[in-house]
Amino acid sequence: MIIFGTRTKLLSAVGTQHTCSHCNTGKLNLVYTGSYFHIFWIPIFPLGKKGMTQCPHCKQTLTERELGPQSRSYVNSQKSSAKTPLTHFSGLIIIGVLIFSIFLINAFDKTGGYIRNPKIGDVYQVKGNAENQFVLWKVTAVEGDTVVFATHSQYNLVQADINEQTVFGKLDEKFTDSRLKMAKRNIKSMTQNDKNLVAIFRK
Ligand SMILES: [Zn+2]
Repeated sequence: MIIFGTRTKLLSAVGTQHTCSHCNTGKLNLVYTGSYFHIFWIPIFPLGKKGMTQCPHCKQTLTERELGPQSRSYVNSQKSSAKTPLTHFSGLIIIGVLIFSIFLINAFDKTGGYIRNPKIGDVYQVKGNAENQFVLWKVTAVEGDTVVFATHSQYNLVQADINEQTVFGKLDEKFTDSRLKMAKRNIKSMTQNDKNLVAIFRK
C-alpha cells in the first residue's frame, strides 16, 4: 500500500500594525502556509502557498478568499517573502540525483553500456595474438544474448591504425563474412582479467 497525499506546513507568521476588525483589539498576524504532495510522508513537490490573517486576541482567521479586496491584495503581495523550504522539493531532488547518477554511471561505463545494448555496426578492438597487435570485430547481428561479429581481414593492426576515422573509414570494407558468435556475458568478461577487449567504437 502506498500512502500519499498532501500536507500543509507553516512557512511564516509575522505581526502587523493592523487592528483586527472583528474584536477591534488584537493586532493581526500575517500567516503563510505551504502545501506539498507527499509519498510516505516524504515531500515530493510543493503545491503552493496560502496566505491568511490571524488575530491573536479573538483567534479569527481569515483566508485570502475571506478577506476584502484591499487586504487580499496586500496578503498576496507579501507572499513571496514566505519562502518554500527546499525540503518540500525532496522527492524531486532525489529523482534528480538518481537520474544524474545513472547519467554519470553511463558516461563512465560507456563500454559496459555498449556491451549490454549492442548495435549493428559497433566495432570492437580486440587484442591479437602478438603483443601490441589488434584485430577488429564488427557487430553484424544481435540474437538475444548472442552477438554476431564479422572479423577484420587484417590481424596485425597496431594502435596507430585504429581510431574513429579509420574504423568507420578505410578499414570498414575489409571485414570478412566469417561469423563469430559470442554471448554478452563472455564479451563482458573480455573487459576484465586480461582486458582483451580494448575499446568499442560506435558511429
Ligand atoms: Zn480579533
